[in-house]
Amino acid sequence: MRLQNKVALITGAGSGIGKSTALLFTREGAKVIVNDVAEHGAETVAAIRRQGGEAIFVRADVTRASEVEDMVQQVLAQYGQIDVLFNNAGISGVGALHETSEEQWDRVVNVNIKGVFLPSKYVIPHMMERKQGAIINMSSCIAEIGLMRRAVYSATKGAVLALTKSMQVDYAPYNIRVNALLPGTILTPFVENYLRTSYDNPEEALHTIRQRQLSGDLGRPEDAAKAALFLASDESKFMMGSPLYVDGGVTFG
Ligand code: NAD
Repeated sequence: MRLQNKVALITGAGSGIGKSTALLFTREGAKVIVNDVAEHGAETVAAIRRQGGEAIFVRADVTRASEVEDMVQQVLAQYGQIDVLFNNAGISGVGALHETSEEQWDRVVNVNIKGVFLPSKYVIPHMMERKQGAIINMSSCIAEIGLMRRAVYSATKGAVLALTKSMQVDYAPYNIRVNALLPGTILTPFVENYLRTSYDNPEEALHTIRQRQLSGDLGRPEDAAKAALFLASDESKFMMGSPLYVDGGVTFG
């Protein structure tokens, strides 16, 4: 088992990629802290326990410093260590730049960038002390390619990729690896919601997205979860500050 005796904190693990990763990590022996701002994080924990894994749900908003700090303290009090931090929580933002309201800009920037900053800020001093840790930041292939009407969302995912490299340089001396995950379109509630709210004909939009993939289909949450497992485990010990694409060929194809 690749994560035996490891403790992993996954933000936004109540749904989609985070949920699938939490299930996979526990199957690989990790104890998982399922974080989410929404109560459906409890459903992830129930699913993990049904398969015999160990997990707890900690409700916290990753944009609120006091909630994140309390969460990290609670985890350290209970488990004494955090080996893996997966900064996965994120929200979508649809619109060209001129269509984007200031409120929408602030909300997406807050969750997608500050939501990486705060958990990292409170977990890293602990990892520095132990001189070990793996951090995975959720970026997106949109950090590399232009897609229509995704202005603020692409700005945040580009920022996460740049932040990953900066973090890696600062924390390499402490044996902390920081890598970024860049999924293409993965069929999750996030994408279903995006299609429903952004297109008059979601089925047609889905067809267009499928055609854009070299793979001919969208990814599944498990595809991204397996890549996260690789970045969390020692199998990727020579990867530092790297982007890992899980995108069905959409970025470079
Ligand atoms: P999802 O909507 O299924 O899950 C995201 C989870 O994050 C939800 O449970 C939500 O409640 C939680 N969340 C939102 N705001 C939060 C906050 N402030 N604090 C704590 N939790 C919060 O989405 P998903 O598709 O699984 O996406 C997960 C991540 O992957 C996001 O960062 C997203 O940008 C990124 N991503 C997704 C895709 C895709 O195609 N699905 C592609 C590239 C990147």
